[in-house]
Amino acid sequence: MQTPFRPLEYDYHSHRPLRTLIQWVGRPWWFYVSLVLVLLIKHSPVWAIPFLVAQVIDVLTQPEEFPLRLMVMYFGAVFILILQNVPMQTLMISMLSGATRDLEHTLRTALVTRMQHLSIAFHDRMESGRLQAKVLRDVEQIQNFCMFLFEGGVLALFSFLFAVIITSWREPRLLGFFVVMVPIVVGLRTLFRRRMAARNRDFRSEVERMSGDVAEMINMIPVVRAHGLEEFESQRISTQFGVVNQRGRRLDLINAVFGASAFVSFQLAMIIGLAVMSWFCLQGWITVGEIVLYQSLFGMIVMSISQLLHFYPQMARGVESIRSIGEVLECPDLEMNQGRMALESLQGRIDFDHVSFSYQAEKGAAVEEFSLAVAPGECIALVGPSGAGKSTMMQLVIGFRRPQSGHILLDGVDMQEIDMRTARRFISVVPQETVLFSGTIRENIAYGLTGVSDALLRDVLAAANLTELIASLPEGVETRIGEDGALLSGGQRQRIAIARALIRNPRILVLDEATSSLDVVSERKIQESIERAIRDRTTFIVAHRLSTIRRADRIVVMQEGRIADVGTYQELMARPGLFREMLALQDVIRD
Ligand code: ADP
Repeated sequence: MQTPFRPLEYDYHSHRPLRTLIQWVGRPWWFYVSLVLVLLIKHSPVWAIPFLVAQVIDVLTQPEEFPLRLMVMYFGAVFILILQNVPMQTLMISMLSGATRDLEHTLRTALVTRMQHLSIAFHDRMESGRLQAKVLRDVEQIQNFCMFLFEGGVLALFSFLFAVIITSWREPRLLGFFVVMVPIVVGLRTLFRRRMAARNRDFRSEVERMSGDVAEMINMIPVVRAHGLEEFESQRISTQFGVVNQRGRRLDLINAVFGASAFVSFQLAMIIGLAVMSWFCLQGWITVGEIVLYQSLFGMIVMSISQLLHFYPQMARGVESIRSIGEVLECPDLEMNQGRMALESLQGRIDFDHVSFSYQAEKGAAVEEFSLAVAPGECIALVGPSGAGKSTMMQLVIGFRRPQSGHILLDGVDMQEIDMRTARRFISVVPQETVLFSGTIRENIAYGLTGVSDALLRDVLAAANLTELIASLPEGVETRIGEDGALLSGGQRQRIAIARALIRNPRILVLDEATSSLDVVSERKIQESIERAIRDRTTFIVAHRLSTIRRADRIVVMQEGRIADVGTYQELMARPGLFREMLALQDVIRD
């Protein structure tokens, strides 16, 4: 099996989807040649049987001209051809499925690897649902497309060539008739197909709207219930179900008409063909057996052309999926870490030198001319109204965003020159919303670390005020928590997040204090764990609680992206300004 970790983006050419696909599959040319050979051998009985039937009829109708011996030989040959289908079919599928399943594996791995390296700004722009669809649906679409390309496309093409070559070689006069009939049959089918495509599109878009509506409805149930709008909401959704019902019926109808017309045109063509061939036979140009043979060949031509036409929409979908994946593989928005300096250690000194950052140029700066020198071990509380740029500052500290002007220096070295992946080994983040995954408490705390000793875990649990909670659980740290930690209270989740940050013994801690209010006991426990967490390390806290603010070495008051004031709690309280106004508003900062 090939390695799934090839960097596929180098193989991606947006204007040449098929070439891209072949490079992704990554098999040598002889693989495709042998695959086609196996396919043709496997399929050969279908082509051979009409010859056998023709031979049988000729031997039976004109025994004096066609010897019985020949018929027996035909039987023998077809018998062997039929039997070989089993091993050949197995061989073909194992080759084809090997290639396409490997492709699926490689593509998915390449996509998630790329996603891990794309910048946070990229992930902000791209909805997670769309990325998920790329990894799951688009990749599956491409795999289906490859199977179809082969079993539908290549086989139809060879069937067509086979039938045309045999007919023109044995009876060129018939080929003239085929040339006239085929466009008529195909034309009839195409006529319906266009209308069918329109109705199909219509139906699909209504179904998509319906699933969107249902998802929204489920999310809205508490709101609807609170407003007593259950009847109204059910009615609204039911109307949409009605539309889907109506479009579905219209689609079924046109499908039926198309199915019938396809059947009728195909059968008519075959009957007309039979009439023409009977006339040929009466003229003595062909034998009775050959009527059967040409009839089958004619059927083969019509079928394969119709299959090739059907191939187009499938191909369009496949190509679209290749493009969709390319959006991720080709996106240049990577965190540029390669070749930069690796940090072996960090004291924890940070200097901000006229740092400015804006999300969109036209919206103005989220952080502007931010300058501050932070000594190792200092605790800085960031306060300010919502939208002042506090979270943006945190993202700048961890290198998720890069300043557009100005510099951030870690231990005196510009972050631009540092491989931030190595720097983040010394930085821990406690976000406002704790992200927990389903697994044990130990797995959640030691996430990404191996060989965490029990003693270290115990210390961290004690620092995060979790000892009591763990002791109360029958399985202790091995207790499994539900998806997103649903079984834990808000305060417990936050303390687990603090433990997760502390276990790495970071030199810099970035903590976004949760705004949600907790009961007095939980609040106190969190405060104690924060107090222990900030000891001996540089800490930035987006602070919402007075107790945290009091404890900070310095408080940075932010307003509209700028530093409005800096000082200790006592200094800031001593002078009039935003800080005192904010404290006066008890609902902004709680103790
Ligand atoms: P705070 O954390 O103090 O509430 P933020 O740093 O979140 O402030 O926001 C600062 C400014 O940047 C605000 O005007 C906000 O609208 C804008 N902003 C924040 N995040 C984004 C984002 N991902 N995309 C665009 N604008 C953003």
